[in-house]
Amino acid sequence: MSDAPKSLNFIEHIVEEDLKNGFPKEDLRFRFPPEPNGYLHIGHASSICLNFGLGLSYNAPVNLRFDDTNPAKEEQEFVDAIKKDVEWLGYQWDTERYASDYFQQLYDWAVNLIKEGKAYVDEQSSEEMAKQKGTPTEAGVESPYRNRSVDENLRLFEAMKNGDFKEGSHVLRAKIDMTSSNMLMRDPIIYRILHKAHHRTNTDWCIYPMYDWTHGESDYIEQVSHSFCTLEFAMHRELYDWFLDQVYDSTKVRPKQREFARRNLSHTVVSKRKLAQLVESGIVNGWDDPRMPTISGLRRRGYSPESIRNFADTIGIAKRDNLIDVSLLEFQVRNHLNKVAPRVMGVLDPVKVVITNYPEGEEEWLDAENNPEDDSAGSRKIPFSKEIYIEKEDFREEANKKFFRLKLGKEVRLKNAYIIKAESCTKDTDGNITEIQCTYDPKSKSGSGTEESLRKVKGTLHWVSISHALEAEVRLYDRLFTDESPDTHKDKDFMEFVNPNSLEVITGFLEPSLKEAKAGDQMQFQRLGYFCVDPDTSEDKLVFNKTVGLRDTWAKIEEKK
Ligand code: ATP
Ligand code: MG
Repeated sequence: MSDAPKSLNFIEHIVEEDLKNGFPKEDLRFRFPPEPNGYLHIGHASSICLNFGLGLSYNAPVNLRFDDTNPAKEEQEFVDAIKKDVEWLGYQWDTERYASDYFQQLYDWAVNLIKEGKAYVDEQSSEEMAKQKGTPTEAGVESPYRNRSVDENLRLFEAMKNGDFKEGSHVLRAKIDMTSSNMLMRDPIIYRILHKAHHRTNTDWCIYPMYDWTHGESDYIEQVSHSFCTLEFAMHRELYDWFLDQVYDSTKVRPKQREFARRNLSHTVVSKRKLAQLVESGIVNGWDDPRMPTISGLRRRGYSPESIRNFADTIGIAKRDNLIDVSLLEFQVRNHLNKVAPRVMGVLDPVKVVITNYPEGEEEWLDAENNPEDDSAGSRKIPFSKEIYIEKEDFREEANKKFFRLKLGKEVRLKNAYIIKAESCTKDTDGNITEIQCTYDPKSKSGSGTEESLRKVKGTLHWVSISHALEAEVRLYDRLFTDESPDTHKDKDFMEFVNPNSLEVITGFLEPSLKEAKAGDQMQFQRLGYFCVDPDTSEDKLVFNKTVGLRDTWAKIEEKK
């Protein structure tokens, strides 16, 4: 890493500095610590790429640690989903860990704290404790239970553990400093009573350790060298260090917490709690709905792990919170799919074209290149016949010179096929065009080598042969929120900005080669965008998602610059 040409981000600088000051490289260890209370989202992807990326750069192990200290909200379903997402992003953890595996150790350490006079059982209501907390400018007030004897504390803590008390009746607090300028140091709670079964420890425990007490000690147990978290934990660092001081043995690695900025993506929300609200209220069809900014939603939408990694890499690691435009992510998706996605033809808003001089009942199978960006992708056959579909918007009876598509009396090339000329059209009583009559130039077949096949015409259209076309359900997506930053309005709830038109379901007509397409397959529908096969696809129904459009507005902005 030290000699890598790429410039280092400030997190990498911290690691480099430690190595320079003598920290042994072989002792580097990182972790990604999700709480299994929801599915991972694009913000987490930044943290995953950061931590696992460091692991790869320094050839150091990275643990996947589930921070599972709140049985009320955590579930095995989320654990499984998180593992799947991290793997899919392309990363391998060294060991799979659970904070709940450390419950006994954490309890034993808490007992030691009591014995050393550094923790006590409080039995005031949470309202009373809140009142005593003080304000940032006003010192707190000590609890009347703060100076209980060690023996009484030990007895009460054990009773808490044994389930003798009701939820909310007692807590264990660290005895630190009620006058500290850091409110978090004012005798923070380290254990609370919860009579709830845990997804891993079941009913073994009815007291559960608080996040602050658990996180740093878990880092220490695992000998994590650098514990990177988001900025909201900056104030917690003092407490993290205080807790470490209580258990630290100087022959061991002492974990170091450092903070970086949360990543927010425009036109969406990145908070598991808010995403859960979208799922629970039925606004989306589950955590993996393709409109969701979850990793599983993006996967179902057809985003590739490469593009998400490239996105995380490009936006980098920041020191201040900021909003990243979702078009930057879409740019990466398009960029990657352009290289790998096979090209196919499908018509989503069809109008019938009859080629009057093409023999009735005849069909021919034409060669079509799979990917102009990739020679190794080969070619396939597509059927041509007398009746085809083109997009409605690709035909006008009359249009100005800038309209390079089909108009009466003018020619266009059908992609991979012939040049056709529009001769006339038929309309219904409302004036809608129902059929276009064309003639074709039999000598103009693409790739046939004739003079006519090389003839240049201005426009090229995609099309499908009607009798061969596959009907498919195609799901088109728009932004999930109408506002760029829906959860930052003081007077409005983010749910007020949900876009009511974020999903449109239509029927598309696709070339027959797509018959064999499998869930997850990605492709470009030529001139329309990138699409993928949805897992709802079955024997008798093809379902596609639109991943992203072809238009590259971001790149245009870049070019101008
Ligand atoms: P949420 O508010 O979505 O529940 P969280 O921080 O509570 O997020 P955790 O499961 O605790 O979720 O997060 C695991 C790790 O991912 C933490 O280190 C956290 O700091 C990091 N992380 C979470 N959200 C983001 C984000 N938007 N950008 C960068 N890192 C994030
Ligand atoms: Mg959290």
